[in-house]
Amino acid sequence: MKVLVAVKRVVDFNVKVRVKADNSGVDLANVKMAMNPFCEIAVEEAVCLKEQGIATEVVVVSIGSSAAQEQLRTALALGADRAILVESAEDLTSLAVAKLLKAVVDKEQPQLVILGKQSIDSDNNQTGQMLAALSGYGQGTFASKVAISGDSVVVTREIDGGAQTVALKLPAIVTTDLRLNVPRYASLPNIMKAKKKPLEVLTPSALGVSCACTVHILKVEAPAARSAGIKVKSVAELVEKLKNEAKVI
Ligand code: AMP
Repeated sequence: MKVLVAVKRVVDFNVKVRVKADNSGVDLANVKMAMNPFCEIAVEEAVCLKEQGIATEVVVVSIGSSAAQEQLRTALALGADRAILVESAEDLTSLAVAKLLKAVVDKEQPQLVILGKQSIDSDNNQTGQMLAALSGYGQGTFASKVAISGDSVVVTREIDGGAQTVALKLPAIVTTDLRLNVPRYASLPNIMKAKKKPLEVLTPSALGVSCACTVHILKVEAPAARSAGIKVKSVAELVEKLKNEAKVI
């Protein structure tokens, strides 16, 4: 069974981002970049499936600038077999990314596609769902457990107020939630070995996908600074303020 994993290069989760002076976006100059944490979980799940003898090949794909090769090499060091970069310098919408992933799915014919549930930079939480719609495959989003059973995958999903278990016919799309697994660290020998693993570079035009931008960002602003809190002397005063000042009860 071939597993395709989509990994995105994002600002490292430890970085406090700054908005550019002209409000056109987030300042990425000299900022540490990393693999999206939910994509790390996706790679870990695919590698575990390979270690269990269920998956035969793990292919990782990233869409973005050539710098995303760094995250693909990280995924290779974590255990993926080969990588594909769809190189594009454009600012891509989720729909454009989903269309490109669909073209890679058509080319690679994986049985399982694993994505993160969301990117921590755009917080879109939509690429996996769009890919499922475009490819006509079943989707198990926010997965906290994945089990392959014959020609199906059983996915336990994190939902409001509990867990839901769904069975999807393969090929299928799964998006990872935080509790699915704990990603491993790459060892130094594996980082060295990853340098020699195959990494194919494709372009959107070679895949026959137009990435025409349909969404324009008008302005990016930092959230307003929070005003200082106050200490109340009694529960009665707290209730009074919640009722008459905050008007939340
Ligand atoms: P999003 O819908 O942007 O929140 O992203 C959800 C997931 O889609 C990510 O965790 C990735 O697995 C995948 N994804 C989004 N953008 C890209 C990209 N540029 N390259 C590869 N995978 C991506």
